Amino acid sequence: MKVVLNNIGKKYEGRDEFTLRNINLEIEDKDFCVVLGPSGCGKSTILRMIAGLNSITEGKMYFGDRLVNQVPPKDRDIAMVFQSYALYPHMTVYDNMAFSLKMRKERNAEIDKRVREAARMLQIDKYLYSKPSDISGGQRQRVALGRAIVRNPSIFLMDEPLSNLDAKLREQMRQELVKIHRQMDTTTIYVTHDQTEAMTMATKIILLNNGIIQQQGKPDEFYNRPENVFVAQFIGSPTINLIQGKMKDGIFEAEDDLFRVIPNDSDKEKLKDYESKEVIVGIRSERFLPYDENNHTNEFSSHVDVIENLGKEQSIFVKLDNGKDFVVTMPGYYKYKQNQEQKFRFDNEALHFFDKATGKRIN
Ligand code: ADP
Ligand code: MG
Repeated sequence: MKVVLNNIGKKYEGRDEFTLRNINLEIEDKDFCVVLGPSGCGKSTILRMIAGLNSITEGKMYFGDRLVNQVPPKDRDIAMVFQSYALYPHMTVYDNMAFSLKMRKERNAEIDKRVREAARMLQIDKYLYSKPSDISGGQRQRVALGRAIVRNPSIFLMDEPLSNLDAKLREQMRQELVKIHRQMDTTTIYVTHDQTEAMTMATKIILLNNGIIQQQGKPDEFYNRPENVFVAQFIGSPTINLIQGKMKDGIFEAEDDLFRVIPNDSDKEKLKDYESKEVIVGIRSERFLPYDENNHTNEFSSHVDVIENLGKEQSIFVKLDNGKDFVVTMPGYYKYKQNQEQKFRFDNEALHFFDKATGKRIN
């Protein structure tokens, strides 16, 4: 089912300010859409409006062609999974999963088929007759997912469903949710503050900050073409390096005269209206180049502060002459030493330019 939000806004009763404003988005049928953003930015508010649990203050919401602003939750054909999944402790896993179908007075044979199918998909078929207290936290979370899956909804809503699981289990569940989504073939809207979950699972990401959409699109666009400084910093780990400076004769001059960077030809073209203006350059840690004694263009000096070597690669935390921090990623087998002067180079094919005044990407 396609979900459309048309200029949606939300103002909670008793609050002076709108929590969300001008939310415009289209989630296509069968999308796995991740609503991403820092805590308090309004993610759950959006999801709860889609579920019908929060009223809509302004704008229009459609499921397909149907206006749903006033439709109560039970008539929306949705299923929702929360971070805290309250299972009925006295019921078996089977009965927990069957409960909503029994309430809907589905035929027993149909209930049995759906519960067993979902249990197989979630690999909890061995525990169907266990009580929630007898299975692990991860398995309980699967039961909560199963309870939603059996309802075979047109829209599947999830609010930080993996937050209570440990790191290993979270990683495993990410892959399983992708598979489950493929099998169910249902529009899924998934809320998280975790960029890794968004980047690995989403067909479409919506990144919010302070109730405003910062960017929407495919995961790789967020990494490779962040539309503003906030997006650039929110996506990617280590965090992108940013440095302020001015354009002079087509060359970027970093603050405090730290270094100069010559943009490539296509960036030069985009920057032609920025002569003498302040811009911010972003470069991801893995896009720096090692020192090259035969090529000193786009070079900068630094002082190596801390090295975190993971074997495969190392993050080198360096300080520039004005005390500014950069993080540089290099292959693990390159030799660097702490407390040494070290030069690196900018790869001028990998630069992101932002207008300092607006924070927006210069296109
Ligand atoms: P997120 O899920 O991104 O962490 P929420 O949607 O839960 O953010 O909350 C967004 C903002 O709305 C927060 O400032 C929060 O305090 C406020 N908020 C959430 N629910 C209510 C409510 N029922 N009444 C008033 N303010 C609320
Ligand atoms: Mg929330």
